[in-house]
Amino acid sequence: MTSPVTVGVLALQGAFAAHLAILRGLGVAACEVKTNEQLASVDALVIPGGESTTMSMLLVKGDMLDPLRQRVADGMPVFGTCAGMILCSERIEDGRADQHCLSALPIVSRRNGYGRQIDSFEAELDVTGLDEPFHGVFIRAPVVESVGEEVTVLAAVDGQPVLCSYGPVTVASFHPELSGDPRLHRRWLIDAGLLPEGLAKASDETAEVTP
Ligand code: GLN
Repeated sequence: MTSPVTVGVLALQGAFAAHLAILRGLGVAACEVKTNEQLASVDALVIPGGESTTMSMLLVKGDMLDPLRQRVADGMPVFGTCAGMILCSERIEDGRADQHCLSALPIVSRRNGYGRQIDSFEAELDVTGLDEPFHGVFIRAPVVESVGEEVTVLAAVDGQPVLCSYGPVTVASFHPELSGDPRLHRRWLIDAGLLPEGLAKASDETAEVTP
C-alpha cells in the first residue's frame, strides 16, 4: 500500500524499531530519523520510549534540538511515548538539570513518577473512542502531573492521565508499540489528518507487528 506521507521515528536511542513495524503495518511509509536531513524529510514524528536524558543529550550533540523545536512549533504531528512524552512536555519534574524538553503540548511530566516498587506494570486502559480496552505496558513510566485546559485526556490510571492529545500531538506515558496493537498509532495519524479513516481501518486488520 502506498502512502502520501512519511512518518519518521526518532532513532537516536530507545524503542524505535517496534514503532516502525506498527506504522508499516498500517500501510504508512516510515523511516528512522537520526539526522537533521532525515528530520526535514518527514511529515510527522514518533518520539519513542527509552531514556529521555540520553535522547536530550544526543539531540544536543547532533545539533538537532533547535530544528526539532522549530518543526514542533510549526505544527508537525508528534506521537511521544514514555521517554518521548517526557521530551514533548512543557516542563519536566525530577529530570536532570541539563535535560531539554520541546513544549509540544502544555503538560508537566514527572520522570519515573510511578516510583521504584512499581516501576513497571501493565494495565487495561479504557481509551475514549476505542471499543475495546488497550493493553498498556508501563516501564519506569513518567507521571503526568498536570495538563493545560486545551489538552484532552484520553485515558487515565488511578485518576492520573496516561494518554493525552493536543491537536496533532499525542503522548502516552506507556509503550503502545509493545502491545502489537496499532489502534493508538492509527488514531494519532487520523487526528493529525495523515491517514484517511477508511484506509486505516482496512489496514488495521492486516497489521502484523513484532514487538
Ligand atoms: N524513565 C525513562 C526516562 O526518564 C523513561 C522510561 C521509558 O521510556 N520506558 O526517560
